[in-house]
Amino acid sequence: MSSNDCLFCKIVDGDIPAEVIYESDTALAFRDISPQAPTHVLIIPRRHVSTINDLEAADEELVGQLFSAAKAVAQQEGLTESGYRTVMNCGEGAGQSVFHIHLHLLGGRPMLWPPG
Ligand code: 5GP
Ligand code: ZN
Repeated sequence: MSSNDCLFCKIVDGDIPAEVIYESDTALAFRDISPQAPTHVLIIPRRHVSTINDLEAADEELVGQLFSAAKAVAQQEGLTESGYRTVMNCGEGAGQSVFHIHLHLLGGRPMLWPPG
């Protein structure tokens, strides 16, 4: 899939609305349209990368920036002490449905393990 027909690229470009709660030069965080927890935020790179399998060594800093964004979002949402889960699904078999990498940040309720 090219970035032309990517839903999350359209959110980055402002062509599709989203409730954006955090922005940096390289990342964007917005609320999931179908929240699975009281806080459910998606953290994405501005640049299109389809899956974890498409990451290259040069993207290591970008991936780190996604986690720095997650830490900031957790602080904003008051989850730093209570805890939160971050998940990045890779491929349809793991439940990935939007092929622009995104870190789910979930919190505000007890998180079970193993996940379904
Ligand atoms: P995945 O299944 O790929 O790991 O996660 C994709 C997530 O994107 C899902 O949790 C889904 O609810 C969310 N999502 C799908 N379409 C939209 C949308 O148009 N806006 C927002 N904010 N979230 C979306
Ligand atoms: Zn994209």
